[in-house]
Amino acid sequence: MNLQEARTALVAWQNKMSAYYHAMSAIYYDGDTVAPKGTAENRAHTLGILSEESYKISTSAETLEMLEFLDAHVEELDEKEKRIVYLALKDIKEMKKIPMEEYVEYQQLLVKASDVWHTAKETNDFALFCPVLEKVFATEKHFAELCAPDKDPYDYCLGKYEDGLNKEKCDEFFGALKAKIVPLIKKIGEKEQLSDKCIWGYFSEAAQEKFSYDLMRLMGIDLDHCGLGTTEHPFTTSLGSHHDVRITTNYNTENFASSMYSVIHEGGHALYDLNSADEYAYTLLDGGVSMGIHESQSRFYENLLGRDRAFVETVFPKICEAFPEQMKGYTAEDVYRAINLVQPSLIRTEADEVTYCLHVMVRYELEKRIMSGELAVRDLPAEWNKLYGEYLGVEVPDDKRGVLQDSHWSGGGIGYFPSYALGSAYGAHLLAKMKESVDVEKCLREGDFAPINAWNREHIWKYGCLKKSNDLLRDALGEEFDPSYYTNYLEKKYGELYGLDD
Ligand code: ZN
Repeated sequence: MNLQEARTALVAWQNKMSAYYHAMSAIYYDGDTVAPKGTAENRAHTLGILSEESYKISTSAETLEMLEFLDAHVEELDEKEKRIVYLALKDIKEMKKIPMEEYVEYQQLLVKASDVWHTAKETNDFALFCPVLEKVFATEKHFAELCAPDKDPYDYCLGKYEDGLNKEKCDEFFGALKAKIVPLIKKIGEKEQLSDKCIWGYFSEAAQEKFSYDLMRLMGIDLDHCGLGTTEHPFTTSLGSHHDVRITTNYNTENFASSMYSVIHEGGHALYDLNSADEYAYTLLDGGVSMGIHESQSRFYENLLGRDRAFVETVFPKICEAFPEQMKGYTAEDVYRAINLVQPSLIRTEADEVTYCLHVMVRYELEKRIMSGELAVRDLPAEWNKLYGEYLGVEVPDDKRGVLQDSHWSGGGIGYFPSYALGSAYGAHLLAKMKESVDVEKCLREGDFAPINAWNREHIWKYGCLKKSNDLLRDALGEEFDPSYYTNYLEKKYGELYGLDD
């Protein structure tokens, strides 16, 4: 093999892997959106075969020989190739530590877990979900021990979603947030509460769907490359490797803000995925680099922009157009106050900005204890309810609105949740940096997302997976990440809104 042959083989291998990824993600997307109830077995069958084939191609002697040859000639590779070879070898070496049968079995288990979770949530039946969830946690732990025997299993899981993240860093980060957020919530609780009456009523799915497209267009999302579906739990997925994204939402006919902010959140993910440099198509560099950075983009659009007064004023005419009867007598300021109401509540995806991270901390605590063996999966509901009482002061009426609310665990996403809190904090620091060169308020007031998107494209999106997440963030910020930007932002915004200094 010479260098040219290895380079050609690298391109061909990535093309093939993109095709497998495309097929598998389309099947998952189907399962979560329009597939009828009795079809999970068929998907598990096909995904079993596809994951076995992709495992074989990735871990074949031929693929490894090609990658190791390139690795031995690393000085002759360009920056892009170097990173691809590094990422591929890292993944494949880990993958090889998991026996193929176990890998395939787990992919099939996840199809089943997702199916069972849907029914369990619908019927409020944790006992139904418990056995399959036990297997998911046990497999994640087992794979972590196989892939990184010297590491704590939960640290390994956390590191899958954000480079270098571990329990120590999470504890420190959450500790810093808690020290500011808990007193802020207490002070807000002593003030007169805001009214959120205007977001409640009856809002037809059809009107909400039309409004969702208005929001996507306003955000500058290319609708020729991003579809919108409905699911129990909103998410974003890239199909294959380039400019082919789906977002989903869930319409609550009693409250239009629920889907509105899901669409803006998932829209932020979509913008990131859609804007990788064109040259990264069908390579390992396409798409977002880590879930922490990904959530920094989604939470940026959802909250830092979407819950800003200027944005609400701009979008208010669209809200009135979508729901003319329901909006009679209300103003943009009413909506602004309603969507920024701070109130400890049950559902994470609908939580306000101030209490949001406490929801994440509950999940983090529980995952940590399960992975260390300190807590059994069957005891999750009781512990969940206890922690919601301690952290948020709310009583959980049923598992549907408690431990069964999120889809992540059924998808094997153990270690994912801290990304939401980290992403929120990254976003606040990024916004401060963006404001040095972009008049963000003016953009929001004029409904012109182009300068904002251009900044994110230039500093974050276009790089895809080229840089490590820590480097990407440091380069974009021009300094080390500092969570106090986030807590300062919360104190300033909600201090004003609730008159805390009066
Ligand atoms: Zn997200």
